[in-house]
Amino acid sequence: MKTSRHFKFILSLFLTGFVGLSVISCGPPDQVAPGENYCSSGQSVLNIDDSNVSQEVKNKIYNPHSGSFIVRKGTANYNAQGRVVIIPITFTDLPMNNALSMDTLVQNFFSTGTGSVRDYFAENSWGEYPIRNAGVSTWTALGNTMASFGVGQTGNDWTRNPNVARTACQNSNINWANVDVNGDRNITRSEALICFLVPAGGGGACRPSSISITYNGQNYNISNSFVFFDCKRDDDLTKGTNDIRYNYSTIWHEMAHGLFSLPDRYQNGTCGTGPAGQYDIMSDNCSKRHMSIYDKMRIGWISPRVLLPANQRIGGERKCYNFPPVEQTPAALVLFSPANPDEFWIVENKNKSASARNFEADLPESGLAIWWARTNDDNSPTLIQFNDPTKIPTEYNNPAAGALFKYSASQPANAGPLLFTSDNKFPFMVRAISPQTPGMNAEF
Ligand SMILES: [Zn+2]
Repeated sequence: MKTSRHFKFILSLFLTGFVGLSVISCGPPDQVAPGENYCSSGQSVLNIDDSNVSQEVKNKIYNPHSGSFIVRKGTANYNAQGRVVIIPITFTDLPMNNALSMDTLVQNFFSTGTGSVRDYFAENSWGEYPIRNAGVSTWTALGNTMASFGVGQTGNDWTRNPNVARTACQNSNINWANVDVNGDRNITRSEALICFLVPAGGGGACRPSSISITYNGQNYNISNSFVFFDCKRDDDLTKGTNDIRYNYSTIWHEMAHGLFSLPDRYQNGTCGTGPAGQYDIMSDNCSKRHMSIYDKMRIGWISPRVLLPANQRIGGERKCYNFPPVEQTPAALVLFSPANPDEFWIVENKNKSASARNFEADLPESGLAIWWARTNDDNSPTLIQFNDPTKIPTEYNNPAAGALFKYSASQPANAGPLLFTSDNKFPFMVRAISPQTPGMNAEF
């Protein structure tokens, strides 16, 4: 294994050095200028001509694969209005947090421009998905102890008991006729996400139950992915301050499960592990970061242009490309080699300071994120690690600081990492990467 990686590194230097000579000799504006250390400008990834890539190939990259659970825009379970119901619940042994007002609750979830949950999903979707208030209940008593609901459930986990969701919905003062948009008394995932706020001071969960209640003398079926998340306990000495905000990253994570059926990507329940590591809210809900560009694409909020290997693309040559910060602009680039039709890369410029409400606060760094993924596996998004560039994609795991691509003084402009396929081919190389600035450039 060591020998083969060493070989790849030598090969990388040879190939990039070789192509580098030809670039320096012609030097059009979207290539590295002679004497420059990196691309100081480039063609915007927003307007690459990819008319040579078939719609069939694009659909396979953009859309959830057959058997995927990811909920895409335009499909039956997509909650197009982002409607969310919130029911704060109490148990006989877990009282309400009496410092948390209904007004604060509504503001924390649904207000605009305050760093609310609404703002998180609005920023991740470039404005397409601001969640909306479909009903907020007052504190709702379940009338028994928390432990009693856990009896007979896996791990004594009370959230797994559908009677919790049933009792909470039944006892709440939500106007279910208003939640039921089409009036068929069957409240589906397209009509609202139902969330339970628990004053237990912990994390959260998502449970795909189906229940029935009566409301105004009518039976209502609620087929939903019920989401549970915590606020501070009543006996928390710091209650009254950030009662909900302390748990925002877990709330985003659980709601992303409930709204879009995104999978967990961490390993053994440990935050920041797995192939997406500290760069995806679905593998690190312990602190603040965006959803992955892979999920934003599969949900349908972005359809990046698709770039083929240099000798197969329109123009037939390598170029510098410009990436606006993904926190502000729906900008990304897919790299696709027809010789490996079931895998691709997706490149985004992650810029912590470009998030208007600091939703990338705990991302380890800013820079170009280069993800590898399989077209048929929602769990495959794997961050290629700039600080460990010679692996095949399936060997990467637990990316942390240093994984994002950015200018390095030790890297000559005419050399850079190759991007390996799962079967050890290298159809793309990355080089002449600019310093980490709001807009970044790199040559592919
Ligand atoms: Zn989860």
